[in-house]
Amino acid sequence: MRVLITGAAGFLGSHLCDRFLAEGHQVIGMDNLLTGSIDNIAHLAGNQDFSFIKHDVTNYIYLPGQINAVLHFASPASPIDYLMYPIQTLKVGALGTHNALGVAKDKGARFLLASTSEVYGDPLVHPQAESYVGNVDAIGPRGVYDEAKRFAEAMTMAYYRTHHVDTRIARIFNTYGPRMRLDDGRVVPNFIGQALRGEPLTVYGDGSQTRSFCYVSDLIEGIYRLLLADFNEPVNIGNPGEMTIRQLADLINEMTGNPAGITVRPDQRIKGDPQTRQPDITRARAVLGWEPCVGLEDGLRQTIEYFRERV
Ligand code: UDP
Repeated sequence: MRVLITGAAGFLGSHLCDRFLAEGHQVIGMDNLLTGSIDNIAHLAGNQDFSFIKHDVTNYIYLPGQINAVLHFASPASPIDYLMYPIQTLKVGALGTHNALGVAKDKGARFLLASTSEVYGDPLVHPQAESYVGNVDAIGPRGVYDEAKRFAEAMTMAYYRTHHVDTRIARIFNTYGPRMRLDDGRVVPNFIGQALRGEPLTVYGDGSQTRSFCYVSDLIEGIYRLLLADFNEPVNIGNPGEMTIRQLADLINEMTGNPAGITVRPDQRIKGDPQTRQPDITRARAVLGWEPCVGLEDGLRQTIEYFRERV
């Protein structure tokens, strides 16, 4: 296949490039480098099956030649990034998705949207299955991301139903691993960075809120299988292992031998920060024969090693 990956210089996009290349496909990576980093794909320079185009996908995408699949991963994805770039976040979810779908329609390519557990908002149903329609505050601080992705899902389904583009929607839950930006503000890089510097870990709120963390290699496997599967409804991809943020802080302090403990920062918790989050992956198990296999401690160990060289 010849595939277009938008957001190719990002955390997930760059791992996807690696995976498709390893499977023998040709990859065109596209990114405007707003929140992505060229360092994430520097190792692909010189690979004859890879090319990079610096382009903002909110503008029309022109690509000559055949394309078999479009994977649309371009978007700011961490809360501090989308708070810093609220309009770009809305534009890439709306205009960027429209343009990426346009490429898929024009080329007769398969299309996969990187959607998110944020479409469920601060969920009132637990765990979250794909049938849950969510609890989102459109005008809250997280609304720019949540609504952009909800619009992107609506647009994707419209192209599927109206233009018969062969689409996929992956609802991605919290994922971590090498190539996250140390300063992207998310809990795993924040905590590991703080722990490696010997600082107390900043627990926002009282730390009783939960998340379920998936290691990047598991996530990429799920995405790859979804693209190849014959299934057009949304599929949750994530690890159901749920824990409180306080438990995560204690674990990272223990694993890094950080004596500084935690500091509780109720002021830093932004409005609408979900109190609970856990994927129901019944559908992924049935449709993709997939479930995560990397344990949290193994994944964190590899992530700590990656960050150790960068702190
Ligand atoms: N969080 C925290 N300390 C930090 C960063 C994040 O306690 O230094 C909390 C945040 O309030 C949220 C959870 O960790 O409840 C996960 O935050 P993240 O930004 O990783 O992603 P989210 O799942 O909220 O999109």
